Amino acid sequence: MASRFPTAVYARRLARAAQLAASAEVSALVITPGPDLEYLIGSDAQTFERLSALVIPAVGDPVLVTPRLELASFAESAAGELGVAFAPWVDGEDPYALALATLPADPVVAVSDSMSAGHLVPLMAATGTAPRLATDILRDLRMIKDAEEIEVLRRAGAAIDRVHARMGEWLRPGRTEAAVAADIAAAILAEGHTAAAFVIVGSGPNGADPHHEHSDRVITESDVVVIDIGGPVAPGYNSDCTRTYCFADQPTAVVTAFDELEAAQRAAVDAVRPGATAESIDAAARDRLAAAGLADKFIHRTGHGIGLSVHEEPYIVAGNDLVLQPGMAFSVEPGVYFDGEWGARIEDIVIVTDDGCESVNKQSHALTRLPAGGNQK
Ligand code: ZN
Ligand code: ZN
Ligand code: ZN
Repeated sequence: MASRFPTAVYARRLARAAQLAASAEVSALVITPGPDLEYLIGSDAQTFERLSALVIPAVGDPVLVTPRLELASFAESAAGELGVAFAPWVDGEDPYALALATLPADPVVAVSDSMSAGHLVPLMAATGTAPRLATDILRDLRMIKDAEEIEVLRRAGAAIDRVHARMGEWLRPGRTEAAVAADIAAAILAEGHTAAAFVIVGSGPNGADPHHEHSDRVITESDVVVIDIGGPVAPGYNSDCTRTYCFADQPTAVVTAFDELEAAQRAAVDAVRPGATAESIDAAARDRLAAAGLADKFIHRTGHGIGLSVHEEPYIVAGNDLVLQPGMAFSVEPGVYFDGEWGARIEDIVIVTDDGCESVNKQSHALTRLPAGGNQK
């Protein structure tokens, strides 16, 4: 059974979701397994060819349509505890008709963005209308974290901070990125995550590729190394934190660019407050780097929301005029990338507070110099 919050948390979320369905003027939300379902009933069920769906009507009580063989696992979710009506079905029955059974004729439904085409197409055939996206309707609810979620995000931040604090145990010249990544993955689990969702070890020129994972490249003493790591902490909220390391004195050009990056990351974090727009946070980092002549070295958005998914709304990107509100959680992660040479990134997860923000990551932002050890040369 997946761990989850106290049942009252899900009761509140389900009630809110029904209100949002009503104000969006849809007949019902039809939520298949994925982050939206996990948010609403604490079930991390996977999606298969048989339809499982939580139907939340704008008017009336929710119904959980489930293959009979998955009944037991859903009974252990908050839906079971809350007495949500179950509509089990067996092979040969039409689950799409079952999902729509309690809705008015010609219903307009809204579906999760994670619903597979294998379910979406027959559902559309059954309703006769194009569905809307439940993900849009639930956006504010999912984006603004409640107290329970914020507490888990803080625990996730502390857990990944402990992994970064131990980096000198594994990261040294003479080892391959892959070997270091394997040790980091084990530490991510040991420090309280339920999985290592991603481990980026970008040494030397590989650090200039923001989505490089790791390779058989042997790390050298002169390298700058980008370490971007994270994973879920029960019940399912993710950490995501990047720090940049080295083993030797760096050329002035590297030190100067890194200092500018640190200032840009700080400027962006300092700009986070209720009422500011997502794009203004991106601009705070970007303008600082542009002023230092590094505009073309920062080649991605400044950040992404985080929670049950590693990447979710709000996206901290040019063109997003979304107004920040207390409870929103997202990364602030500018980087500088010198093609074929080196790269650096600094990433913290911040939560918008009433008058600014709180960073869940507390490790130093500095270009941290680790001992080179004795196993190189
Ligand atoms: Zn990414
Ligand atoms: Zn990251
Ligand atoms: Zn990130």
